[in-house]
Amino acid sequence: MSMTKVNPFQSALQQLDKAAKLMGLDKTVHERLKQPKREIHFSLPIRMDNGAVKVFSGYRVQYDNSRGPNKGGIRFHPDTDINEVKALSFWMTFKCATVGIPLGGGKGGVTVNPKKLSERELERLSRAFMRALSNDVGPDKDVPAPDVYTNPKIMAWMSDEYNTLHGGRQLPGMITGKPLAVGGSEGRGYSTAQGGVYVVLELAKKLKLKKGAKVAIQGFGNAGSYMGKILAKKGYKIIAVSDSKGGILNEQGLDLAAVEKHKAATGSVINYAKAKTITNEQVLALECDILVPAALENVITKDNARNINAKAVVELANGPTTPEADEILIKRNIVVVPDILSNAGGVTVSYFEQVQNAYNYYWTEKEVLAKLEPIMIDSFNAVWAAKVKYNCDMRTAAYIHSARRIEQAMLAKGIANG
Ligand code: NAD
Repeated sequence: MSMTKVNPFQSALQQLDKAAKLMGLDKTVHERLKQPKREIHFSLPIRMDNGAVKVFSGYRVQYDNSRGPNKGGIRFHPDTDINEVKALSFWMTFKCATVGIPLGGGKGGVTVNPKKLSERELERLSRAFMRALSNDVGPDKDVPAPDVYTNPKIMAWMSDEYNTLHGGRQLPGMITGKPLAVGGSEGRGYSTAQGGVYVVLELAKKLKLKKGAKVAIQGFGNAGSYMGKILAKKGYKIIAVSDSKGGILNEQGLDLAAVEKHKAATGSVINYAKAKTITNEQVLALECDILVPAALENVITKDNARNINAKAVVELANGPTTPEADEILIKRNIVVVPDILSNAGGVTVSYFEQVQNAYNYYWTEKEVLAKLEPIMIDSFNAVWAAKVKYNCDMRTAAYIHSARRIEQAMLAKGIANG
């Protein structure tokens, strides 16, 4: 990752400022959107397997709930801090509004390297996280989900802990991204990537991309690996992928099922036999049609934006491009499809999961995809229309489109803080 130290929350506010000016956002609404409604800090003392107690820092930020209950994932990462969680909760607010689902924004995190925890330590940490927040979350209040280094298993532990604390009531809609066996939704596992694919297919029409267009992906986790696999099925050539240890390149296209096996066996994509091992920086600079950052924030910065050699950047990660880098990419005519649009498939299917939990009646995978596809396509085209109308970049257009919806909700409710 680049060494430029950028506070992601400051970047997030700058993105909104730019849109607010262009669209004439109501001043009171803009003021309210400059800080989260609620920020919760807590410490989590965990008994480690060796008997010692370690204390971890946890956060939950409930940014805005004008349009519905707060919604957003939980990240377990050694670099997670309050500014990151605030930024992520801000982006969730605008993401839900971009795709028009009736939810607000939230996010949580723990500063921890989960790779260094045993399975039992991870379970204790997950349950402790939920105990700390049990009165602050709920199906009609704030609904967490997975994010970097958290997964369906962790969601199931948290759901179970929450139900226990609520007298055994089964309240699966409190958290999404659960395993299918305990109220998860069909399609949720790959929904972030699937939504990104619908976006790429629309973008390809606008940019007139040809079959076999080249794609490079940074990050080979939930978002990145499914993105690669689904795009490959659609005829795209995935020339590079990477993870925290580095990247791999094969100009002829990678066989991602084989890469996945290699990663499962060795812990990383690097040193895969049928590709050249390269660095994450090199992945970002590859000549390709579409570059997909799908790892962490602040990877495309003023230091490397001039090296980007793609026709378009489709942001599956949240906040991968800093505002300074954005300006450079705009000048270079590289289209950036912003995170709040291109990775919104995940939260959209999380919303579907909640709806199914509320009904206690479940949809087929086909039904889920049939509902997701038009939402992503319509949202892409609404943002594209705003881009044309305001003669601006796609990120600013997405903020204009979403901020208008938040503005309507806030003004309708008044400034009381329900
Ligand atoms: P994940 O934990 O499944 O995968 C993260 C990936 O990033 C892994 O491949 C990891 O090796 C890689 N990575 C970590 N540190 C890195 C580094 N320093 N350099 C390069 N790669 C690195 O997480 P995920 O759910 O796939 O999330 C990835 C991004 O997508 C995040 O920004 C997340 O907020 C965003 N996102 C995820 C979802 C979702 O539903 N999971 C939804 C919307 C957005």
